[in-house]
Amino acid sequence: MAKIFCVANQKGGVGKTTTTVNLAAGLAKIGQRVLMVDLDPQGNATMGSGVDKRQLKLSVYDVLLESASIPEARAKSEKLAEGGCSYDILGANRELAGAEVELVEVERREKRLKEALAAVDAEYDFVLIDCPPSLSMLTLNGLCSAHGVIVPMQCEYFALEGLTDLVNTIKQVHANLNKDLQIIGLLRVMFDPRITLQQQVSDQLKAHFGDKVFNTVIPRNVRLAEAPSYGVPGVVFDPSSKGAQAFVSFAEEMVERIKGM
Ligand code: ADP
Ligand code: MG
Repeated sequence: MAKIFCVANQKGGVGKTTTTVNLAAGLAKIGQRVLMVDLDPQGNATMGSGVDKRQLKLSVYDVLLESASIPEARAKSEKLAEGGCSYDILGANRELAGAEVELVEVERREKRLKEALAAVDAEYDFVLIDCPPSLSMLTLNGLCSAHGVIVPMQCEYFALEGLTDLVNTIKQVHANLNKDLQIIGLLRVMFDPRITLQQQVSDQLKAHFGDKVFNTVIPRNVRLAEAPSYGVPGVVFDPSSKGAQAFVSFAEEMVERIKGM
């Protein structure tokens, strides 16, 4: 059975997409079978996995509107295969922005992705869902599908404020729509230990959230930021970089975490 995780944080630019594609690649690298679902109409996770969003014949949009199944709509990337980190991609592009409106009219609108994923459950060890920077119907579909939420966050002062809204949303989804849902963990990303404030916020996070803070810390690393322009995750682009190594460690930590789930 696949374990399904949303990478969510309603703030933009906090590292959701970087986390999704690099964790997917890291898990693939250590032998896990992974499906990456792009739920953001920007399609950055699709492009960053080596699939051209403008060339997609079918996407997650078709799956949400039930005009295609996941086996019909998923794609593979040669670049990932060459890098030895192959995972499947259910891509997204601008068309997905329309789904928000179109889904308002339909039945079971928040359960569409969950139902589609049930059909491919046996094919994967992990499904990773890259959420858009909002608490929208798209994010809700992700949260309704998932066993857990991975929350990437920068250790900055305002990071903690935004967390309250996300925690409340997750509590509501847990109570009303998906009793499996839990925050699996907070992932400290773009971390720079030389900045005292970041160290302080990191300590606060650990004091407040304890075990819910992943042990792995993702450093700020320029190779992770450069990789998307080559259409691959940093784990493939420069496996020896500090950022790539951190994501492979994070993949190992995730494999350990799901043993208890
Ligand atoms: P989100 O999906 O939350 O909007 P992204 O993953 O797209 O965030 O990250 C925002 C920007 O920060 C991107 O330009 C990305 O390349 C960069 N970035 C993310 N993580 C790191 C990191 N650990 N080190 C350096 N740059 C990073
Ligand atoms: Mg993103």
